[in-house]
Formats: sequence, structure tokens, C-alpha cells
Amino acid sequence: MTTPEPDPVDRELVCSGKGCRAQAVWAVLWNNPKIHTPDRRKVWLACDDHRDHLENFLDLRGFRKGTIPVEELEQ
Ligand SMILES: [Zn+2]
Repeated sequence: MTTPEPDPVDRELVCSGKGCRAQAVWAVLWNNPKIHTPDRRKVWLACDDHRDHLENFLDLRGFRKGTIPVEELEQ
């Protein structure tokens, strides 16, 4: 029996940065028009340190739809 990867719990919003376990404060919204319908929103959670990195990654590909504080995401 293998140990499953711990799923992020709803209340425990962890940064999507590689290897980062910091609490997320930003929700970066994106959409890849090749695989997602236009109204679909994918979300990457980011701490302050990784927000720029994740935004740049998506901006380079033209995927980013916006960034909102994570509290707004939960509403
Ligand atoms: Zn981070």
C-alpha cells in the first residue's frame, strides 16, 4: 500500500510554485485556448515570492486571465 500524495485541503491553500509549501495569497487565473473552452478558468495559487514567476510563465504563452487575492477565490 502506497502513501497517497496529500491533497491540498480547501482551507490550506498552498503555493503552486515548484517545491514551495508557503501559504498562497494570490490566485493566478489562466486558460489555454487549445485545450480549454474560453470560459474555463484554471487556477494557480501563488505566494508573494512565486507570483511573478507564475505570471511571467503564463504571460509568455498568452494564457493569463488575471490575478486576484486568494480570498476572492474562496467566495
Ligand atoms: Zn511559493
